Amino acid sequence: MIKGVFLNSVKWDLPMERNAAAWYPTVFPDKCNGCEGLEAAKCIQFCPHDVFEIRNEKAVVVKPQNCVYGCIACESVCPKKAITFPQRVALTPKAKPKDKGLLHKVKCRKCGNIFWTNRDADLCFECEAAEIGEKRK
Ligand code: SF4
Ligand code: SF4
Ligand SMILES: [Zn+2]
Repeated sequence: MIKGVFLNSVKWDLPMERNAAAWYPTVFPDKCNGCEGLEAAKCIQFCPHDVFEIRNEKAVVVKPQNCVYGCIACESVCPKKAITFPQRVALTPKAKPKDKGLLHKVKCRKCGNIFWTNRDADLCFECEAAEIGEKRK
């Protein structure tokens, strides 16, 4: 498929059912600046599926399962070119997804739930939020 055509038709031509293959964006934390200086984070403003949230002033993929299979639209709205898709990142066999800033599965050290993150984190988003809440008390 030609890329331009794909981008223009992406909102209308996607199959309604989710494809079994994993599909989600990756935010490179070293590139993302949380859209500092802009009125809103472009990726969050753009994507209607709550895939991103801002944590520590950077966008993180909090709900990869919400991403629409085949959609690459948010890649082009990011002013810092911080968003990409795993399929197009050349992974050397030796580098772990974690080292590339890609999403990887982690078991939360507090609640034991498995979650996906592209950060070096061992707390799920819920436990992390709870911990931040406790610190503020
Ligand atoms: S649009 Fe890009 S720079 Fe802005 S918050 Fe999202 S990932 Fe970060
Ligand atoms: S690829 Fe599409 S559905 Fe997935 S996060 Fe980006 S804009 Fe949202
Ligand atoms: Zn947890």
